[in-house]
Amino acid sequence: MSEPWQWDEQIWRGHVERVRAGRPLRPDSWPGRAKVAVALSFDSDHETIPLRDGEILPGKLSQGEYGARVGVPRILKLLDRFEAPSTFFMPAVSALLHDGEAKSYVDAGHEIALHGWIHERNTQVPPGAERDLAFRAADTLERLTGVRPVGIRTPSWDFSEHSLEIIRELGLTYDSSLMADDDCYEIVADGEPTGIVELPVEWIRDDMPYFMMERFGAQRPYTPPRGVLSIWRDEFDLALAEGGVFQLTLHPHVIGHRSRVAILTELLEHIVSHDGVWFATHAQIADHVGKDLSR
Ligand SMILES: [Zn+2]
Repeated sequence: MSEPWQWDEQIWRGHVERVRAGRPLRPDSWPGRAKVAVALSFDSDHETIPLRDGEILPGKLSQGEYGARVGVPRILKLLDRFEAPSTFFMPAVSALLHDGEAKSYVDAGHEIALHGWIHERNTQVPPGAERDLAFRAADTLERLTGVRPVGIRTPSWDFSEHSLEIIRELGLTYDSSLMADDDCYEIVADGEPTGIVELPVEWIRDDMPYFMMERFGAQRPYTPPRGVLSIWRDEFDLALAEGGVFQLTLHPHVIGHRSRVAILTELLEHIVSHDGVWFATHAQIADHVGKDLSR
């Protein structure tokens, strides 16, 4: 096994080109002549983050439980008030633990999409297990909601060497785990267009790094909620100016607290104070930008 500094061009180029950004997919116009697409997403992980690490004590599990008990009802009420269809990425175990929650998303006009079985780290399970868990998760969400998911966010954005072929085998239309743009693009695999839309994410548009703390570790929140609000407002403002997508990744057990729902509310008030805003699910955006792609 050679060291990276010993790799020849074929090797380093090969690694980079396995999964790459292809053509940009920023459309000339959004539906209803909107100027910006707003893609809100909520990763309803709840207890699966401690569970996937084998943490089974009540303390950490209760932090996840808060997401289902308190965060989700608050979020659904807010989305209803702003008439903002959104996407909920939900591990199958989380959906099984909280009877009726996944179905309630679909019933309220939101999208349910894949987020692993138990929030497993794809790069740490064998390739066969990643595939098996992804198919089981798709079957489970379909059984619980009546809708077959068309998109995926790999848990912890942990996109393995095998994730793309599994996404293709599942027949999904989009992924939302990669970061090569602010706006959508087509995923290219080893130089070949795949027809799969990437709706990119970023840690700066994720609530976790700003707000989570680790009791016995070094992770501490360092940005006050209104500091986070100003970052997200700036992200939205430039997305609007550029005619692109404003995408957020939020977690019910993180953003669902009173002091944080307050900034999400202010952000949505700022967004709707502009004309030409299209609130859409990730699937709707992927369909719109990817309508000319060959699959
Ligand atoms: Zn997650």
